[in-house]
Amino acid sequence: KSQILWLRRDLRLADQAALIAAAKAGPVIPVYVLDDEMPKHRKMGGASRWWLHHSLTSLGTALADKGSRLILRRGNSAEIIADIAKEAGAAAVHALHHYEPWWRNAEKALRKALPGDVALDLHHGNYLMPPGSVTAGSGGPYKIYTPFWRALDQHMPPAVPQPAPDSIDAPDSWPASDHLDDWQLLPARPNWATGFAEMWTPGEAGAEANLEAFASKAVRYDERRNFPSEVGTSLLSPHLHFGEISPATVWHRIIAEHGAEAAETYLKELVWRDYSQNVICQYPVYGSENARDRFDAFPWRDMSDPTVQADYRAWTKGRTGYPIVDAGMRELWATGWMHNRVRMITASFLIKHLLIDWREGEKWFWDTLVDADYGSNSTNWQWTAGTGVDSNMFVRIMAPLTQSEKFDTAGYIRQWVPELADLDAPYIHDPEEHGFRPKNYPRKIIAHKQARQRALDAYAAIKE
Ligand code: FAD
Repeated sequence: KSQILWLRRDLRLADQAALIAAAKAGPVIPVYVLDDEMPKHRKMGGASRWWLHHSLTSLGTALADKGSRLILRRGNSAEIIADIAKEAGAAAVHALHHYEPWWRNAEKALRKALPGDVALDLHHGNYLMPPGSVTAGSGGPYKIYTPFWRALDQHMPPAVPQPAPDSIDAPDSWPASDHLDDWQLLPARPNWATGFAEMWTPGEAGAEANLEAFASKAVRYDERRNFPSEVGTSLLSPHLHFGEISPATVWHRIIAEHGAEAAETYLKELVWRDYSQNVICQYPVYGSENARDRFDAFPWRDMSDPTVQADYRAWTKGRTGYPIVDAGMRELWATGWMHNRVRMITASFLIKHLLIDWREGEKWFWDTLVDADYGSNSTNWQWTAGTGVDSNMFVRIMAPLTQSEKFDTAGYIRQWVPELADLDAPYIHDPEEHGFRPKNYPRKIIAHKQARQRALDAYAAIKE
């Protein structure tokens, strides 16, 4: 009897527990459903859709090489998977566990929709440890990262990654499939994604290439990861998000090269990804609600006010007059990615300098990042805002100019803000202050001191 392989954010053949189990049990029908019936604004954003198109193309080719096929459908995932299982007379549906609230709901709905004799087998493998399984001594889940890391590390290394099956048996007949191009996942006109293609190769091979390029550099990560003009990080986030590579594969490759101790800073960073899933398992509404209730009364500026809208637009377009913020926002628009240090600076700027609710920023990142991830995005935004389950960071107001001088030592601003390309340090970090602001570059949207005071005053209004 055939086996359905329900694919979501696990678009790979290697170390894919659901595929391995399905292929062992019988002929496999791999299915990807584009499910746009998500809660409001959780529908995949534009940058993610670009990635998805290319990742599915790559997966389709890899499956064809193994004698299989990728079936594409659009609509309600639970209903569609159940229909295909019935039509094919399948024995089971295999999938990897997913933890976004809508995927957990879809898993429940699928269980209900499947005939009694068709099993839903959910496997682990998109995280180092199954989210929710790393618990404190009291048995409850962790809220804070450091004890979470310590507890998770006790279980490392993860199981050795499994290779892709040598061959995948095909069923006697294939269900109907959509044509990927009909889904129109790519931008029409203007094509805002030309820079994406220069930077990324979505799919399993692209993920492996980035891991290989980074592996030898992982020991220098601690020292180099904060400098945005360098390629000092692994550039694996969209590949990990779409499940084109398993975190166990990354872990083993890095420790094979350096050992766990030498590469600890990197491995710890990888664990933030697990941590964020652990958080959304506990707080499924983390992307839309403050974890600290008292922030519900925070006097954010009003988004219906045209001045606030203009400030927000300036932030999205990289025209705030703060070069490091503008460089980051333009890098994001051009490549679908932004360096982590600059994500922290730009997020802090929106929340504290512009006093705009973190959820507006989270939404923008959701739409524009190729690695947009419900767990990681909401955890990092709530962390920056101080609204989250971990420490309250609100009063840590990053000074963008100091950050810029410290971390942009080699031309990040010059690369992304061409209006300033002729300026050298220190002028390039703050051209207005030094009297070198070119006419086509905006004045600072707000002075740092004034913004800082406004943020602290706003915070005082809700302080216990
Ligand atoms: P590396 O530094 O090489 O790290 C390796 C991997 O570890 C990453 O690929 C990622 O999977 C994981 N990781 C690293 N840092 C974090 C972190 N702070 N939180 C969670 N996982 C982490 N990351 C996303 O994957 N998706 C998001 O939607 C996302 N939104 C963010 C929003 C804000 C405001 C901030 C400050 C950070 C956000 N991050 C997000 C985390 C981080 O910026 C990216 O994971 C990282 O920049 C990706 O680049 P890399 O693969 O080269 O990372």
